[in-house]
Amino acid sequence: MPATQTPVPSPLFGQARRLLGWQGYVAHLPTAWNPGKFAGKRGNGDVRIDDEDGTRMELRWEETNKTPDVARSIENFLKQLEKAAKKRGDEFSIDENAHTVSKGRKRKEQVTSFGWVGAPDAPASCGYGAAWSCPICNRVTFAHVIGHAGEKPGKIMRLAGEILTDMECHGEGGWDTWGAFDLQIEIPTEFELKSAQLLLNKIDISWERPRPNGLYGLGRRAERLRVMRFPVANVLLDGKSLVEWSDWNIQHKNKQLSLRDATPDEFNGHEGLLYRGPVKDLKQRAGVWIFDTIMRRRTPQGEVRVWECTDSNRLFALESEVSPVNAHVPSDVMDELACH
Ligand SMILES: [Zn+2]
Ligand SMILES: [Zn+2]
Repeated sequence: MPATQTPVPSPLFGQARRLLGWQGYVAHLPTAWNPGKFAGKRGNGDVRIDDEDGTRMELRWEETNKTPDVARSIENFLKQLEKAAKKRGDEFSIDENAHTVSKGRKRKEQVTSFGWVGAPDAPASCGYGAAWSCPICNRVTFAHVIGHAGEKPGKIMRLAGEILTDMECHGEGGWDTWGAFDLQIEIPTEFELKSAQLLLNKIDISWERPRPNGLYGLGRRAERLRVMRFPVANVLLDGKSLVEWSDWNIQHKNKQLSLRDATPDEFNGHEGLLYRGPVKDLKQRAGVWIFDTIMRRRTPQGEVRVWECTDSNRLFALESEVSPVNAHVPSDVMDELACH
C-alpha cells in the first residue's frame, strides 16, 4: 500500500506551501512555485521551478554507481555559473559561508551547502542550495534556490535551508509521491514517467512500467497509469451530463483502449463512471489472449475511472492497464488520490 499523504506543512515566511513530488523527490514549496520545465528520467534529469517573476529553484540529479565527490561537483557547478555570469558581464562571487542544510541529515551523505551572489538588481541576484548523495536512490542531487532582483542573500539562504532540510529524494515502500499544481498522487516506483503536460488549466501525466524481458513478457504490453485533471467542470460540462462529456472526451478519444460503455460508479464520494475495455491493437490483443491462456493467467482489461469532483469543480480521469500481479494498483492509487 502507498504511504499516507504528507500533511500540509506550516507556512514558509508567511506563504502557504504545497507539495512538489517529482521522480522520487518531495519538497514543500510556496504555492506560487510551480514546475516550469522538466527533462530526463529518474536516473538523470532536472526540473526547474518558476514563480510569476522567473526561475525560483533548480533541481538536478544524476545516478552514480561509484561514490561521487560531491564537493568537487559543486566546485565545477559554481565554475560554470561564474563563467556564464562573466560572459554576460555580471557580478559573481561565491559565498564561502553558505549554510543551508546541516551535514549528517538522515540518509543523505556528503551534504554540502553552497551559495553565490550576483548583482543585487539582476533577475537572478543570488543562489543558495545544497548537494548530497543518497545510497538509497543512488543519486547525487543538486538543489538550488534562486533570489530575484532586490532580494537579500540572507533571506534566500534561509528559505533554501527551510526547503532543502525537509526535502526527500526517494519514496518509501515501493511508492513515489508525485505532485504539482496541488495535484498529489501515489505511483509505484517501478512505473517510470512517460509524459507529462502540466498546465494551470490541465494536467495529464502518464507513467509506464516496461514489458518484462523473457517468458513473463510474452503476450504482455507495458503497464500504464495515467491521470488527467480538467478544471472548471461546470464550464466543460456546459449543461451536459458527465456521461455525455466523458463518452466523447474519454471513451471515444482513447487511443490505446477500446472502451465499452461506462457503468456508473462512485469515486471519493463523487458520481463517477467506470470504463473497461481491451487493447485497441488487435494483434496485441490476440497476443495477450494466447499467452494468458497458455500461462493460465488473466490480464485485467484496461480501465478508466472518470469522476466529477463537485468540491473542487474539476473533472478527473484515472486510466490504467496493469498486469495480474498489479491488479490492485489502480484502486490503491484511487485510495490515496485526494481530489479536493
Ligand atoms: Zn534518495
Ligand atoms: Zn473531490
